[in-house]
Amino acid sequence: MQATSSLVRAAQPQRSVATVLYSKQFKQLARRQQQQRRNLSIGPGHYKQRLVILGSGWGGYGLLRGIDKRRWDVTVISPNTYFNFTPLLASTAVGTLEFRTAIEPVRRYAPDIRYYQAWCDEVDFKNKVLTCMPATRPTNSSATHSGEYTRCDLQKPFSISYDKLVIAVGAYSQTFNVPGVKEHAHFLKDVKDARRIRSRILECFEQASQPFLSDLERRNLLHFCIVGGGPTGVEFAAELHDLLHTDIARHYDKSIVRLAKITMYDVAPNILGMFDANLRKYTEKTLSREGIKILTSHHVDKVEPGKLHVREQGEVPFGMLVWSTGLAPNPLVQSLTDTKKDPKTSSIITNDHLNLIMSNGEPNPDVWTIGDAARIDTAPLPATAQVASQKAKYLVRKLNKLANDEEHKAPFEFHNQGSLAYIGNWKAIYDRSGGNEKDDRFMSKETGRVAWLLWRSAYFTMTLSWRNKILVPTYWFLNWIFGRDITRF
Ligand SMILES: Cc1cc2nc3c(=O)[nH]c(=O)nc-3n(C[C@H](O)[C@H](O)[C@H](O)COP(=O)(O)OP(=O)(O)OC[C@H]3O[C@@H](n4cnc5c(N)ncnc54)[C@H](O)[C@@H]3O)c2cc1C
Repeated sequence: MQATSSLVRAAQPQRSVATVLYSKQFKQLARRQQQQRRNLSIGPGHYKQRLVILGSGWGGYGLLRGIDKRRWDVTVISPNTYFNFTPLLASTAVGTLEFRTAIEPVRRYAPDIRYYQAWCDEVDFKNKVLTCMPATRPTNSSATHSGEYTRCDLQKPFSISYDKLVIAVGAYSQTFNVPGVKEHAHFLKDVKDARRIRSRILECFEQASQPFLSDLERRNLLHFCIVGGGPTGVEFAAELHDLLHTDIARHYDKSIVRLAKITMYDVAPNILGMFDANLRKYTEKTLSREGIKILTSHHVDKVEPGKLHVREQGEVPFGMLVWSTGLAPNPLVQSLTDTKKDPKTSSIITNDHLNLIMSNGEPNPDVWTIGDAARIDTAPLPATAQVASQKAKYLVRKLNKLANDEEHKAPFEFHNQGSLAYIGNWKAIYDRSGGNEKDDRFMSKETGRVAWLLWRSAYFTMTLSWRNKILVPTYWFLNWIFGRDITRF
């Protein structure tokens, strides 16, 4: 402290170079002292254990928010520098909300944590080492003074050791190996996907507005196809319907707007399979009444540029295709050979304390798996943000207790808060009849405006930062008053 005060005193006169240096030293010293205080608060004989979190989604970011960073030496590894608030992605894809309202930066928690923008490619459970690969651009070309370019290799694998590991890498989009899907369809998993979709929708309308096109060519360009009738497909169709019937209808030629069409395909006999049968019927009726064509029991066999091959229909031209047919295992999860996996989904099996189970049937006491990458052996739960974030909260309690040398004996228990889906034109559905809720007093179902209010208030409440708590309703209000931004750049 003595040294600090003398540095402060010395730094009082004018701001010369020396002053700046002193103030830098002062800041460094203060930071070191703060660090020492943190370490001391851990108690004698303790050191901060290295906790590595893989992924910055609902599971990883949820854990990062709550974990006691004074007691854990936290490292996050994720190819995304941000968290995606997935329930709002469909809204951002049509401009009801701006992209930045659906993300949160991981570095908000730095310097209390370390973050590497990287993929984890390998886990060595025996030696507790991870092999990672940077997810940043592989080279850096910058001009030197003489005008020459220097190149440095920025894509070298690196290793990280851990004491405790949480795997929360989520899942990929399922394509069922249908040829051409990866090349010609859009997915909706990330804010970058939402951005591409928004740009493509507007591009379709600008292309269709060119004076030399025939009506057939315009019709093909303005055919928006969605494959997959789960909540993501339905919500996107609903948001797109809203865009077409409000801002697009207002600003584009009527003869062009009337050619626009939305078709939703699903192999199953119904859309929204996980919702109650009456809610499913209500949704199908509402969407059809709004002009969205729902083709269930239809099989897409192949996708070509601007063309679907549907078994029951033949060739179907489209301007934009959004593919949302469920989840495929993450490549990291696929690469793990010494862990127990679900034979159907290939997710990692955990016990009810969320510890990963090794292939010998023993739980790994130092590794937990949460979110879409995991499934509890005794109680399979849906792959939702709700489950991922409840598991993250459970691990926060467990790990924070562990850091205090306390035991957390309670197993994970899921509390079903119900499922919501937006179905367009200020209507939604709410279903709280599923899940593993034991007490049917809490079961309820809602449709229409009431459910829509629930939908908006739920996602407003769940929004994580104060910044987005202000921005989300602000954009809802602004776009309601002035309309969505339909510029493309
Ligand atoms: C458009 C959309 C809307 C949705 N709406 C809802 C909803 O309304 N309600 C609901 O409950 N659920 C909803 N979901 C589902 C929900 O988003 C997922 O269940 C949830 O994201 C799962 O969380 P997670 O942490 O397991 O995975 P994710 O959120 O997918 O996060 C995975 C993270 O791991 C990172 N990662 C991937 N591979 C690696 C690697 N090798 N190394 C390190 N990091 C890696 C990714 O970059 C990402 O940061 C929606 C999903 C989508 C796509």
